[in-house]
Amino acid sequence: MFPSGTGVPAANMAEVEETCRAALLEARRGLWQSQAVISFVAFLFGVVIGSFLNVCIHRLPQHESVVTPSSRCPKCGAPIRAIDNIPVVSYLLLGGRCRDCHNRISLLYPAVELLSGAMFVACYRQFGVTLAGAKWALFCSMLLVLIFTDFHERILPNRVNYFGLAAGLALSPFLPASDGLAQWILNGRMNLAAPEWSVALADAALGALFAGGLLWLFAEGYFRLRGREGMGLGDVKMMLMAGAFLGVRQAIAMLMVGSILGSVAGAIAVWGFGKGRDYELPFGSFLGIAGIFLIFLGSPLLHWYLSVTGLGH
Ligand SMILES: [Zn+2]
Repeated sequence: MFPSGTGVPAANMAEVEETCRAALLEARRGLWQSQAVISFVAFLFGVVIGSFLNVCIHRLPQHESVVTPSSRCPKCGAPIRAIDNIPVVSYLLLGGRCRDCHNRISLLYPAVELLSGAMFVACYRQFGVTLAGAKWALFCSMLLVLIFTDFHERILPNRVNYFGLAAGLALSPFLPASDGLAQWILNGRMNLAAPEWSVALADAALGALFAGGLLWLFAEGYFRLRGREGMGLGDVKMMLMAGAFLGVRQAIAMLMVGSILGSVAGAIAVWGFGKGRDYELPFGSFLGIAGIFLIFLGSPLLHWYLSVTGLGH
């Protein structure tokens, strides 16, 4: 531990090392404890946000306000008391039934709250308590809403897509997606020394245009070939929003992973569950799952892909 000749007697050496080791262990335990505490706070915060996301999921497709009126039982219309509106806890205490009409409350309510809590913990673990963590928590929250509105009603509300597109573009100069395409075009091809914030904004705009444009071409091509709509404009707008957050490369990865998930689910729906070939898949749900998957597992996946294909060298 100490180079010879530092004047530390050999007998004390073991003692010094022991003290160091104990201090290191103590510091590690402290770090672990504070991480656990912050994770728990992030979870609670995510669960509370999840309760608001539930409101968005059920009201946005109906074009209703997400602020007023206060929550009501979807079966009997009775206003939900504050004490019965505690995320997850109230569901368990009430045994999953409305206090007034005793009808079953959908398991999706607590599920969305728990998923939201888990996403917030994952954002904290991945990005720390940072503005970037907040940005990705916002993105994941919007994807969670879209996953469930598309699944329930085959609707991807414009209010989420447009708000997300605006937020993605507005946040990009401060929290860049670091895609590299705009840098390559501006500095490499056009020899322009553009300021960093404008490169980041260009990356977000390119991401939106590329991802939205690509999906629009697919939708248009499918329509021309089959004479009926394979996916709506909602999916295109969703990819505009996602592209603004992710940049070109990650947005294309999201499209690819989403398409694979959708194809597998489509095959299962047709052959496994006997759905007709005109069964409309919630493609936006699969895009959303792909987006969340990429945020948390994107870089390991990209490294693996690059090493397997040899593109990384
Ligand atoms: Zn009720």
